[in-house]
Amino acid sequence: MPQQPRSSVTPRRVQYDAKAGGGQRRGPMMGGRMGRGPRRGIGGMGGGRSKGSGSGAPVTQERSAHKKVVKIEGSVALQTLAAKMQVKAGELLMKLMGLGMTGININSTLDPDTAKIVGEEFGWNIEDVAVSEDDKIAAAQETTEDEADREPRPPVVTVMGHVDHGKTSLLDSIRKSSVADGEAGGITQHIGAYSVKTDKGRITFLDTPGHAAFTAMRARGAKATDIVILVCAADDGVMPQTKEAISHAKDAGCPIVVAVNKIDKPDAQPERARRELSESGLVPEEWGGDTLVCEVSAKTGDGIPELLDAVLLQAEVLALRANPKRSARGMVIEAKLDRGRGPLATVLVQEGTLRKGDGLIAGAAHGRVRAMLDENGRSVSEAGPAMPVAVVGLNEVPSAGDNVDAVKDAKKAQEIADQRKVKATEQNRGSKATMSLEEWAKGISQADMQELKLIVKADVQGSQEALVQALEELSTEKVKVGVVHSGVGAVTEGDVNLAVAAKGVIIGFNVRPAGKARVLAQKEGVEIRHHTIIYEVIDAIKDTMQGMLAPKLVEEAIGKAEVRKIFKVSKAGVVAGCMVIDGVVRRNAMMRLQREGSDIWEGKLDSLKRFKDDAKEVREGLECGIAFSGHSDLQEGDIIAAFEMKEVRATL
Ligand code: GDP
Repeated sequence: MPQQPRSSVTPRRVQYDAKAGGGQRRGPMMGGRMGRGPRRGIGGMGGGRSKGSGSGAPVTQERSAHKKVVKIEGSVALQTLAAKMQVKAGELLMKLMGLGMTGININSTLDPDTAKIVGEEFGWNIEDVAVSEDDKIAAAQETTEDEADREPRPPVVTVMGHVDHGKTSLLDSIRKSSVADGEAGGITQHIGAYSVKTDKGRITFLDTPGHAAFTAMRARGAKATDIVILVCAADDGVMPQTKEAISHAKDAGCPIVVAVNKIDKPDAQPERARRELSESGLVPEEWGGDTLVCEVSAKTGDGIPELLDAVLLQAEVLALRANPKRSARGMVIEAKLDRGRGPLATVLVQEGTLRKGDGLIAGAAHGRVRAMLDENGRSVSEAGPAMPVAVVGLNEVPSAGDNVDAVKDAKKAQEIADQRKVKATEQNRGSKATMSLEEWAKGISQADMQELKLIVKADVQGSQEALVQALEELSTEKVKVGVVHSGVGAVTEGDVNLAVAAKGVIIGFNVRPAGKARVLAQKEGVEIRHHTIIYEVIDAIKDTMQGMLAPKLVEEAIGKAEVRKIFKVSKAGVVAGCMVIDGVVRRNAMMRLQREGSDIWEGKLDSLKRFKDDAKEVREGLECGIAFSGHSDLQEGDIIAAFEMKEVRATL
């Protein structure tokens, strides 16, 4: 099925990008949130899920002869755990707080490590019996991963660009040309994607123009698109959404092929469009850059074959490959409830071959492939890599962006899908962490990530430009500030989705969220920062950058005591009678024992006493009794230097 790429139309200088080829799938399994960047675990005790186990599913409890055991599968809701341990949830919460955990409440979810620790406190043995979902799916699939089985596959293309620049017309025109090629048969159906045959190979088009769909899918961890066709009208040039599309495509790592459209119009100025595209970072090949730019007219069909050639050329550079021999994996492109057929989901097969009769998991939906239809409404019995098919046979309607896995039998599919549902419910019950700058900083210093990604929206172009420049100039060797997208106008849903996908934070400068953007941001846990003064923004971002660096620990000398007399006390071992000669000696400080100018021991105090009483600290000029833990070699004249470790912020 996949066609062998033909030799190129014109030689190109683009390098082979191994990463862009092949396995770009496997986003997070559910709900996108999981795949997102730094998240805060409870009290810093985890946040790390055990591999693929997600938040916890069924919990079972059993009592063996010796130990009380609770089995959990990965993370577990606090309330569920409390119930299983037969304690009140409030009691469990208090215990967790007593253990020093902050930021938790009765609805929190506990990671397995935390559950184990707190379980012990109540005398229970918590066993994490989670098997990762990926492992379960793999066990239910036929997965021969032989490099030799990987074959070239067609590219998957999304069309993006400014409104009215001709995205829909271009897709229609491409589609008509391919239907005219003799593929007509049934009634053309809208299934959200279609495959076009050219004499140089196939191309799959995602028929969902608009950046929102592209980024919304990506925000959920799904990446379907290999190449973006950027439509730019020759009579209008680069417009705000053209720029937005460039940002989205670049952030997704998708190469862009430009279609300068409407060249049939008398006022078309393709050269102006080229110039403006260059200014936006897309320098045409003929001007020495590496962007393929084609002049087309969706109306007359002029230039379309050349555009398709350019796409295939770009695809060749990506060396896209997939293994058609394994069980199918893919993604839901769109889905609906069909009156006659029930749930109907368009699946883009990304790996393997999907066959009639296969068991299927799509998000939380499951079933068996009863029938498959292509975009012409014709029934097909199998679909290989990069083929979109409408699948009949799922029990419910999945969501666009959901991962799809074919498994050998439908029962297994149901089992896995059911577990996903339980997990999703548990997760929704858990308190929602939000992605704020503060948490970002925490998460990032742990994850060793060094780029702060920002989406900047401003009220006027002047401030937008000034802000972006000022922010980017903040980059240092240790932390980079990357403005993923900037624009003039309110913060939109698209911006929020981009922030989710890019794991970034939104800065609204004199602008507010529009429409559902605020609600979406809340739901997805994206922080939108509002500012009205540039310096304020700069300070806030600097602060965050600083927080991203792990703090440094430095030693701070706090005081010195001199050993004046040694007492042997049977119970406490050796106690040194000392005089504090400088600063202060604190009970909890670290001590360094010095004799004749050299350090001979370092450690903690066992006790610090003023006369008979325990003291927290003893100041200069006062006497005290000191005993070390685990060290008794003390002599008169020794100096005890007290110091504390202080966290200082690392410099940028
Ligand atoms: P979209 O918003 O990007 O999907 O743009 P549409 O495909 O809806 O096109 C917007 C308008 O531009 C429509 O009126 C189209 O008929 C017109 N249009 C699109 N492509 C061309 C073209 O190549 N030439 C001319 N003259 N008009 C075009």
